Amino acid sequence: MRLVFLGAPGAGKGTQAKRLSDKLNIAHISTGDMLRSATQDGSELGKRVKSIIDSGQLVSDELMIELINDRVDHEDCRSGYILDGFPRTVPQAEALQKMMESKGSKLDGVLLFEVSEAEVLNRLRNRAAQENRVDDTEEVQISRIAVYKEKTEPLIAYYKQHGELKVVDSSAGPDQVFDNLLKAIGR
Ligand code: AMP
Repeated sequence: MRLVFLGAPGAGKGTQAKRLSDKLNIAHISTGDMLRSATQDGSELGKRVKSIIDSGQLVSDELMIELINDRVDHEDCRSGYILDGFPRTVPQAEALQKMMESKGSKLDGVLLFEVSEAEVLNRLRNRAAQENRVDDTEEVQISRIAVYKEKTEPLIAYYKQHGELKVVDSSAGPDQVFDNLLKAIGR
């Protein structure tokens, strides 16, 4: 099963992706985690990526596409994967489609985790307290939400048009959301 998880920062994609990847025994590909670990190697690229993440902006489409193109060829992706945080722009979605075609595979679904903006802010505030993420300060949160609206939200229309979008009500607690997710993918 090959899935894309879509939703605002704090919508619960990461938590749900982890749970579903454990249940289905498929890979959980979090581009945020991949980038954060790349920032720790002390390289010039790592430093550049860190400053982009810390400001709440997006890393270039080119770099992201290269990262994903490589990652999905790993052994652990053979039985499937969840893309958590990719694509985040329309050019990334178009590149993903081409990439999958060239590998002879296709997406089984795009799950949109839907939650109100007030709840998103509330969750980000809690996460900031728990995880101490530099990109979870109030100022950066606002910028991340603005970037989401401008660059990522157009993907909703994109995937609706491609007939792959399924909406998951993500306003409840993690257990309820997981049930909603399983229903959405027919499990
Ligand atoms: P996340 O953990 O998914 O919220 O990602 C943290 C940060 O990593 C984002 O705010 C972006 O700066 C960067 N990032 C993650 N995924 C992507 C992507 N697909 N395209 C561009 N930047 C990304």
